[in-house]
Amino acid sequence: MSLTHAETITSEIKHVPVKDTLFTQVISVLAKEIYEDAVKRGWWEGTRNDGECLALMHSELSEGLEALRHGNPPSDHIPNFSGIEEELADVIIRILDYAEANHLRIGAAIETKVQFNKTREYKHGGKKF
Ligand SMILES: [Mg+2]
Repeated sequence: MSLTHAETITSEIKHVPVKDTLFTQVISVLAKEIYEDAVKRGWWEGTRNDGECLALMHSELSEGLEALRHGNPPSDHIPNFSGIEEELADVIIRILDYAEANHLRIGAAIETKVQFNKTREYKHGGKKF
């Protein structure tokens, strides 16, 4: 089996050690659960390209925008949550599914980026937004 583009890039930098924390362990367990369920439901049959997967992540954000445009009603699928809560959850689910499928160290990347962001300048050096 050949490596995906995302796996190829990552395999070149995997020698860099990352911290194993409770957060990374929880993210890893959740990512595996999401990915295994997606496989069971046929979403990983055949080939999926990276662009398609990223576009589907975008689509969940668009669904979140539509939920807000319509007053953020309760979700049809999980009625104890609002539409924006459901769609943001969908974004994270799609990200974790993709990360697990491509053997990406997403939990450690999140933790590392959070720490890096704390070192950045106010508004990251003067960005407008
Ligand atoms: Mg959705």
